[in-house]
Amino acid sequence: MSQYNRRISKIVTVGKLPIGGGFPVSVQSMTTPHTADIAAIKRQIHDLETAGCQLIRVTVSDEAAARALPEIRKAMTVPLVADIHFDYRLALKAIDAGVDKIRINPGNIGNKERIQAVLKAARSAKIPIRIGVNAGSLEKELLEKYGHPNAEAMVASAARHIQICEDFGFEDIIVALKASNVSLMIAANRLFTEKYDYPLHLGVTEAGPPWQGTIKSAIGIGTLLAEGIGDTIRVSLTDDPVQEVQTGFEILKSLDLIKKGITIISCPTCGRADVDIIGIVADLESRVKHIQQPMTVAVMGCAVNGPGEAREADLGVAGGKKSFLLFKKGEIIAKIPESQVVDRLLEEIKRLSESKEEIS
Ligand code: SF4
Repeated sequence: MSQYNRRISKIVTVGKLPIGGGFPVSVQSMTTPHTADIAAIKRQIHDLETAGCQLIRVTVSDEAAARALPEIRKAMTVPLVADIHFDYRLALKAIDAGVDKIRINPGNIGNKERIQAVLKAARSAKIPIRIGVNAGSLEKELLEKYGHPNAEAMVASAARHIQICEDFGFEDIIVALKASNVSLMIAANRLFTEKYDYPLHLGVTEAGPPWQGTIKSAIGIGTLLAEGIGDTIRVSLTDDPVQEVQTGFEILKSLDLIKKGITIISCPTCGRADVDIIGIVADLESRVKHIQQPMTVAVMGCAVNGPGEAREADLGVAGGKKSFLLFKKGEIIAKIPESQVVDRLLEEIKRLSESKEEIS
């Protein structure tokens, strides 16, 4: 489907989900309530799964969170990832609770015995570890050596954690190199691929509020994916995580790495239009959000580019005087008044998704 030559990394399996090795890029997110609030976590997991999220991470910051894991795991259909910092006992409890992956940096959990206990438990449970390097929390020695958080320092940090695992013969590893600075995140991931073949989890961390965060994530994650780098992604937004998942899928769709849901092709409108393109597209977008079936729908303001785009899409409308010409699979099938255009498009979307016709 995609024109990009994907980097072929090792394959690491999380639950039943293969990551790396050219398998489809998966989209993940992280829950926001306290993990011990099982009811709230379950509600959010349900929303995330409905949005198509393929991997869900919960933070395990204390004993109460660890105790909640078995019940949370039972309520899920996608793999569960436990996010752990520093406390190796919580990692052991999470593995015991049946999580499908743990995100932990082995170099941060203390002495060799503790590290080995966690790696041994992960190995017997057959679950991978995700090493997550964050430019904002690099080791003091690396900051002293490199002066500031740069790509070399980030890869050196990852190398340190990887080495600990490899010394123990543990290679079931996924790596993330995240930064809130997009250029740094791109540079670190590029550098990593020159040295390792572990699968990469991509993300621009602390990307910010939805509008800024979406742009930063699309550029950071998108640039790397367009170079064939990246096996799973998390868009990080200061917003509902469902929004992160939707944004993640839009990034993958933009690069033709997946086909999912309605792709709206719409013109920016201009003085030539005699129809309210902005209002119509906003209405259409809100009413097709739940549709998973891939389909392209063009909404164009006038005859300049309208018929061309409308003809190429599965469904398309090209504006005229307070009316639209409706195209289906390249053929004009009706002329409809502006007031009915969204309802009619929805009817046709339904009809097309129920038919056996091939959808682009
Ligand atoms: S399709 Fe027509 S209305 Fe839309 S931007 Fe182009 S010229 Fe303007």
